[in-house]
Amino acid sequence: MRYKDLTKIIPDTERLIPGDRIEGKYLSDALGRSRGVASALLFPLTSEEVRLIAAYANERAIPITARSGGTNLTGSTVPHGGLVIDFSRMNRILEIDRETLTATVEPGVVLADFQGLLEAQGLFYPPDPGEKTSTIGGNIATNAGGMRAVKYGVTRDYVRALEIVTADGKILWLGGKTVKDASGLSLKNLIIGSEGTLALITKIVLKLIPLPAKTIAAVAAFPNLDRAAAGVNRIIMSASGPTSVEFLEREVVKLGERFSGLSFPLDKHEAFIIASFDGGDDDEILQRVSLIEQAVRSAGAEDFAVLEDTQAQADMWRIRGCLVKAVEAVSEQEPMDIVVPINKISDFIAYTHELEAESGIRMVSFGHAGDGNIHLCIIRGDREQNLWEEALDRVMTKLYRKTADLGGLVSGEHGIGIAKRSYYLANAAPESIALMRAVKSAFDPNNILNPGKSYS
Ligand SMILES: Cc1cc2nc3c(=O)[nH]c(=O)nc-3n(C[C@H](O)[C@H](O)[C@H](O)COP(=O)(O)OP(=O)(O)OC[C@H]3O[C@@H](n4cnc5c(N)ncnc54)[C@H](O)[C@@H]3O)c2cc1C
Repeated sequence: MRYKDLTKIIPDTERLIPGDRIEGKYLSDALGRSRGVASALLFPLTSEEVRLIAAYANERAIPITARSGGTNLTGSTVPHGGLVIDFSRMNRILEIDRETLTATVEPGVVLADFQGLLEAQGLFYPPDPGEKTSTIGGNIATNAGGMRAVKYGVTRDYVRALEIVTADGKILWLGGKTVKDASGLSLKNLIIGSEGTLALITKIVLKLIPLPAKTIAAVAAFPNLDRAAAGVNRIIMSASGPTSVEFLEREVVKLGERFSGLSFPLDKHEAFIIASFDGGDDDEILQRVSLIEQAVRSAGAEDFAVLEDTQAQADMWRIRGCLVKAVEAVSEQEPMDIVVPINKISDFIAYTHELEAESGIRMVSFGHAGDGNIHLCIIRGDREQNLWEEALDRVMTKLYRKTADLGGLVSGEHGIGIAKRSYYLANAAPESIALMRAVKSAFDPNNILNPGKSYS
């Protein structure tokens, strides 16, 4: 590669950084433990610039690693040489179309900014991954989930259309503003969750909905996590229609309180379920809250509180939202993101307790209980590097095997990247991996887009 050639595409020196001057954060992910190398970092401003970069790289078989917010936890933005394309400056909201209830945005739009702007106009974009500095482009490339998935679904459910740049440098629209689409294969859905391996996303049309008028939160306290897991099933079976259902252990709540400086509404119990409800009318929401109270009490909840005050709700969700960082502040940890059928949550949690006792490795769990998505942090403590790596691999192999036995999957929302790749490949059907690789070679015959990540 001749660096001079890239200056013809991006002449602005502030938007084209040579390999030896790239800041470490652009060569890593949110955890920053693994750092890659790249020959150049580019900040395009238009689809046309992205098209020219892809065409140039494809002709010379130069790898491209796309990144937007860099908040992934899986090493999926760690480059193995070649070019890093950072989409954070393609961050315009191009249109809010109230007639079709859609928004057209560029990939670098930050989720919190987008949601704030919509909510001020009475509109709502529900996908809600914990890290609000993530971007719409990254959310689509990882099919991000988050806390509101129980009621509203995940990012995929809100993508109407994508403009992509293909590996060989063509600009293409997939999908449209229509509500329905039964027209041929859904290429758009292949791109969603593809972790930058199939195409570069340059524009997005998202579905919006009206903003619910009111939100109420509730917290239930249990003597142990098994009871709380049973409570989750009762909630889902009740007709209470929660927006989110999360579970937490006392130990992790304490870490969250310490990290955030806030107080959790209930104390002196081992496990908690927190839930939220939204709608248009107080009485109707409170009726649904009373259904959930019956459900959790029947599962063994010892205490129950309703939070109507918006500040109290926000504080509780801030404690929940900071947990990955709160655990990381105490010790290096490996975040797992497994997902099991919702009736298997307690089996999985029971297994983590068994494994903790057997291996001597501390594990804390919390997560999106309403959709079976468990975030399990495996804690390093003061283990030496090589002992830690061996022990971690041993317990992760067992945990992923158990997940598969329970009918679950390696990742519910964070994606595979590098961190989970070997476990994913060990547990997936070889035939499905072969099909995925065939799809990749149709999209990217020279294997330049994020090679070596996920299934590729
Ligand atoms: C504290 C914390 C909490 C989190 N909580 C959640 C959670 O609740 N739910 C959840 O789902 N995730 C969560 N995450 C993970 C992360 O925020 C999500 O994966 C998010 O979607 C990544 O978005 P990003 O903009 O940071 O993307 P990046 O990290 O920049 O990239 C992620 C992937 O997308 C690809 N990509 C980025 N932009 C493009 C593009 N324009 N075209 C093609 N490919 C592209 C990259 O190559 C990479 O594979 C959390 C992370 C942290 C640090």
